[in-house]
Amino acid sequence: MRNFSYYRAASAEEARREAGAAGALLLAGGTTLLDLAKCGVAEPDKVVDITHLKGLDAIRVTAEGAFIGALAKMSRVAEDSGIKGQFPAVSEALWQAASAQIRNMASMGGNLMQRTRCAYFRDPATFPACNKRNPGSGCSAMGGVNRGHAVLGISDSCIATYPGDLAAALTAFDAVVHLGERRIAVDDFFLLPGTTPEREHAIEPGELITAISIPASPAARRSTYLKIRDRQSYEFAAASAAVGLELEADGKTIRDLRVALGGVATKPWRARAVEDALRGKVLEPQAVKRASLLAVEGAVDHGANRYKIDLVPRVVARAIQKLGESA
Ligand code: FAD
Ligand code: SF4
Repeated sequence: MRNFSYYRAASAEEARREAGAAGALLLAGGTTLLDLAKCGVAEPDKVVDITHLKGLDAIRVTAEGAFIGALAKMSRVAEDSGIKGQFPAVSEALWQAASAQIRNMASMGGNLMQRTRCAYFRDPATFPACNKRNPGSGCSAMGGVNRGHAVLGISDSCIATYPGDLAAALTAFDAVVHLGERRIAVDDFFLLPGTTPEREHAIEPGELITAISIPASPAARRSTYLKIRDRQSYEFAAASAAVGLELEADGKTIRDLRVALGGVATKPWRARAVEDALRGKVLEPQAVKRASLLAVEGAVDHGANRYKIDLVPRVVARAIQKLGESA
C-alpha cells in the first residue's frame, strides 16, 4: 500500500472541491476503500474523509417515501422502523449484506459505490490483464475462474458482477441518487460495461452522493429480498431478487409487480419482462414459473457461471410466491 495524504473535510462543499482533484478519493466507512488500497487497485494520492460530516446521515420516512442520507450506516437503515414498514426489501437486503461489524461501519453511499469482487480485478500483481482496471489489457476472467461472474449485461470487455444487495432493492422501487442538486434514477446511476468497463457510475469527479430517496408504493410496502449464497453467515449473492407485489381488491390479480436482480448482472438488473408478463394476470404458480424464465432473457454464460441461468428464475418465482402467500 503506498503513502497518501489525509484530509478531513469540514463541509460537503469542501469534500467536493478536494475530491475533484486528480488522485483524490472520498473515505466514508472505509470498508471497501481500504481493501482496494491494500490490494493495489485503489492508489489514492489523497483520501478525503467525509465520515463525520453533519446532516448527511438523516433517515426520514413519510407517506411519500424515504429520504436516506449518504452517510447513514447500513445497520441503522436496516433497523429503522419506517424502512422496515414501508420498504421491507430494502431492510432485508441490508440485513443480508456483509457482516454486523461491516454494516455498523459502512455507509449507504459507500455501499452503492462498492466495486466488483472479480478476483482478477483485485489482484493486479498476479493478473495484469483486466479491462476494468487497465483499459485495453484484456479480461482474465473469460476462460478463467468465473463461477461468480455475470450472465446479464456483459460485454466483450468485461463480465464482472456488480456485487451489492442494496442497489437491487433500490432499483426495484425506482430510487433516486442525489448528488447534491443533481439527481439520477438509480437504474441510470449504474453503467453497463460496454467498451468502457472502467466507468461504472454516472458520477463525475468532484461529485458526492448526498442522499438516496425512494418513492413510497404499495408494491414497496409488500416486498422482500431473497438472496441465495454459498454460505449463510456472510457472503455475496450467487443470485438474488428484490420483489414487490400489489394485488387488486380481489386478492389474486396482480396490479403491480417489481423485480430486480442482484449477483447475476454487471449492474443491478431490473427484470421488466417478468413484471410486464404478470401485470394484470392472476397470481398462480404456473404463470409465475413461466414468467420468471423471462428474467434471464438474453443471458450468456462463460461455463462455470451457467448455473446462474437456472437459478435466477427459481429465485424470482420463489420470492413472488412468498409475497403472494403473505396476503
Ligand atoms: P468506503 O469504503 O468508505 O467507500 C467505498 C467507495 O465509495 C470509495 O471509492 C469511496 O471513495 C466512495 N464513496 C464513499 N462515500 C461516497 C459518497 N458519499 N459519494 C461518492 N463516493 C463515495 N456488500 C453487499 O452489498 N453485500 C454483501 O454481502 C457484502 N459482503 C461484504 C463482505 C466483506 C468481507 C466486505 C469487506 C464487504 C462486503 N460488502 C458487501 C461490501 C460493503 O457493503 C461495502 O464495503 C460498504 O457498503 C462500503 O461502504 P463504506 O462506507 O465503508 O465505503
Ligand atoms: Fe477485469 Fe472485468 Fe475481466 Fe474481471 S471480468 S478480469 S473486472 S475485465
